[in-house]
Amino acid sequence: MGTFKVFCVRCNHLIEHAHARLIFQTGFYKTSIPLAQCRKCLDSEETANDR
Ligand SMILES: [Zn+2]
Repeated sequence: MGTFKVFCVRCNHLIEHAHARLIFQTGFYKTSIPLAQCRKCLDSEETANDR
């Protein structure tokens, strides 16, 4: 198995799963690509919550 792509629901980009911080088990983009959140989006969310 190589890398697979996931779809970040925050920035709406396909990213490699290695860059994903969170992968949702319940939703799929185009039926086969797991929904996720990338590191960048999750980091900015945590920063926002800090304020
Ligand atoms: Zn993202």
